Amino acid sequence: MRIAMIGSGYVGLVSGACFADFGHEVVCVDLDAGKIAALERGEIPIFEPGLDRLVADNASAGRLRFTTDLAPAVAQADVVFIAVGTPSRRGDGHADLSYVHAAAAAIAGAVEGFTVVVTKSTVPVGTGDDVERIIAETNPRADVAVVSNPEFLREGAAIEDFKRPDRIVVGLEDERARDVMTEVYRPLYLNQAPLLFTGRRTAELIKYAGNAFLAMKITFINEIADLCEKTGANVQDVARGIGLDKRIGPKFLNAGPGYGGSCFPKDTLALVKTGQDYDSPLRLVETTVAVNDQRKRAMGRRVVAALGGSVRGRTVAILGLTFKPNTDDMREAPSIAIIQALRDAGARVRAYDPEGMSAARALMEGVDYADNAYAAAEGADCLVLVTEWNQFRSLDLKRLRAAMATPLFIDLRNVYRRREVEAAGFTYHSIGRPGDG
Ligand code: NAD
Repeated sequence: MRIAMIGSGYVGLVSGACFADFGHEVVCVDLDAGKIAALERGEIPIFEPGLDRLVADNASAGRLRFTTDLAPAVAQADVVFIAVGTPSRRGDGHADLSYVHAAAAAIAGAVEGFTVVVTKSTVPVGTGDDVERIIAETNPRADVAVVSNPEFLREGAAIEDFKRPDRIVVGLEDERARDVMTEVYRPLYLNQAPLLFTGRRTAELIKYAGNAFLAMKITFINEIADLCEKTGANVQDVARGIGLDKRIGPKFLNAGPGYGGSCFPKDTLALVKTGQDYDSPLRLVETTVAVNDQRKRAMGRRVVAALGGSVRGRTVAILGLTFKPNTDDMREAPSIAIIQALRDAGARVRAYDPEGMSAARALMEGVDYADNAYAAAEGADCLVLVTEWNQFRSLDLKRLRAAMATPLFIDLRNVYRRREVEAAGFTYHSIGRPGDG
């Protein structure tokens, strides 16, 4: 199959490289000339484990190319994927579909022969109808089938997720697309990954319903963690106790500082807006959004309280800035709200993250960046573990303690055990484990 991937960000680049690895002929297109030039030089513009190798192997095999020139890539393609961003629209929280609409119009002007146009971006229910209409209006002679194929990969494990998905969802209204999509995913299909064919609107809604459910699960355990703190229960044991019930399942039950990232915050908000537009409110999701928003800043207040109620002039060391480990993605990371709350309260903030510091520098002013965890801790009054990178799981606690002015350790990811941190001379706070051993 000849595939054009419009948008070469986290999703487009990973999907494009994986499709090339399946043996398809892939051209990744992006408007960002700098990104394309970097890719052509063999540089990967994002941090995603294993992606450099996958891109290099498939580029040198001649199956993966990069261009800013959309028209020829689309003209030659059997299948065109739209993998552009769908951020929250400023002001109202709806998904901003301007990039999707622009991509649809550009595709319409370039298609030749029957072409399957697949929306991989996360888009509100009904967007496939918009894409179809835009293409028909822009080029009445275009012969296309518009399909929804939402992507479920997680940053940090994106290649593994793409190649071993729990399921592949394909929403279509034009039966001609069925065989084409089966062919696109043939290697996975042969490996028994369930290929779920649905109507297009259903596929669009599956993506949002899935993300909203996961966001609710995280928010649920976070509220249970708060109750554990008040009652002397241990949230990790509660999570294990409920997670062993197969109807609940053990995943996404880690209490922490609130969810962030490029998907959950914007997708939950967009789903709430869709529900309101259709006069079908999603109150559980509305509450999830509100609880999670408050939680991130509340984590900053928790640090202030642990320091006795005032942080003015005191130094707080932050370990981990990205919204989760193994990515450089800073979008909606809890660290941003936590650091803002601390700075508003007058604290000096020094931070270290293995991959996120260059993105963080562009987002946050007034933060000092350190070269490693120990340098971040030097002279600090408090250490806050915000993102559970592996390298923060086995810190030399005695060395950290010796570096710091005040021995206070706040573990927002429950990485450590109270006993070991206290043995190193720290006062220790974690999430939902008031008396853990
Ligand atoms: P991204 O911002 O990393 O990448 C989008 C890319 O599209 C950018 O490089 C941008 O320059 C390019 N672009 C925009 N308009 C274009 C156009 N007309 N022609 C060519 N290129 C264009 O975004 P992302 O994180 O890859 O997300 C893409 C979509 O996938 C979003 O809808 C997102 O919700 C969804 N998604 C993301 C993830 C994730 O983990 N990041 C997971 C599943 C789904």
